Amino acid sequence: MANDEVLLRKHTRREFRERMQAGELKACIIPIAAIEQHLEHMAMEHDWRSARHVAEKVAEKLRPNVLVAEGIMAGISEHHMTHIGTLTLSPGTFLNVVSDLIGSMVRAGFQNIVVLNGHGGNVVPCEAVWDQFLRLHQVNLHFLPYWNTLTEQDGKDLMDSGHKMPYILPGHAQEFETSFALAAFPENVRTEMWQDQVDQTPSLATAAKGEAFIERIVDRVSVYLQEMIDGKRVTEVPPYHP
Ligand SMILES: [Zn+2]
Repeated sequence: MANDEVLLRKHTRREFRERMQAGELKACIIPIAAIEQHLEHMAMEHDWRSARHVAEKVAEKLRPNVLVAEGIMAGISEHHMTHIGTLTLSPGTFLNVVSDLIGSMVRAGFQNIVVLNGHGGNVVPCEAVWDQFLRLHQVNLHFLPYWNTLTEQDGKDLMDSGHKMPYILPGHAQEFETSFALAAFPENVRTEMWQDQVDQTPSLATAAKGEAFIERIVDRVSVYLQEMIDGKRVTEVPPYHP
C-alpha cells in the first residue's frame, strides 16, 4: 500500500494505526448520499458515486492529511419510492448510522470530521439533529452538502437551464448532475434515453460543464478542509440547557 492511501478501507489496522499515531491523518471525510432513481437516463448510484468522487479528489489534493471513511450508501429517499428499485432508510435508522460512523472516527482519533453529503433528502434530517451530534461527539464536526460550495454565479457561468439557487443546483438528474456524471463516470448516463423523457432539461448536460463544476467543488471543499485542519474553521459546541 502506498503510505498516502486516501481510503480508510484499504488500510490494514497497523497501517492506519501508524499513520494516526504519527499525526499524519488530520481530517476525515465521511461521504453520505443515496441509491435512488435518477429519471430514465441515469444510474441509481449517482448521489453516492458523486459524493465519493468529490471526497476522494479532495483527499488526494490534501494528501497525506485527509482520509475518506465510507460506511453507508443508501440515504433518506422515501420521496422516490414510487420508482421501484430505489433504496431508502427511515430517518431514524439513517441518522443512527451516520452518528455511529462519526463516533467510530472520533474513537479512531480524528478531531476534524466532515460529513460530505450528496443527496438532497438527507439535508433537513441531518441539519435538524446536528446540534445534538456536536454535543455528543465533541469534535470539529461539519455537515456539508458538496453543492453548497457553489454560488449563483457558478450557475450563471456554467449552466443553460437557469441558475436559481438552491433548486437548480443540484437539481435531480438535471443539467448539473448529468454533467457531473458525463465528466466523471459517463457509463452511468444513457444518452439514448433522453428523448424518451418528458423532461428534456438533462440533454443540456455536457462533460465539459461537469468538469468545470467538479474542479470548482473540489477546490472549495479542499479549502474548507484545510481551514478546519489549520484551526480557522471550527464549529462551536452549542450551549447546554442552564
Ligand atoms: Zn441525485
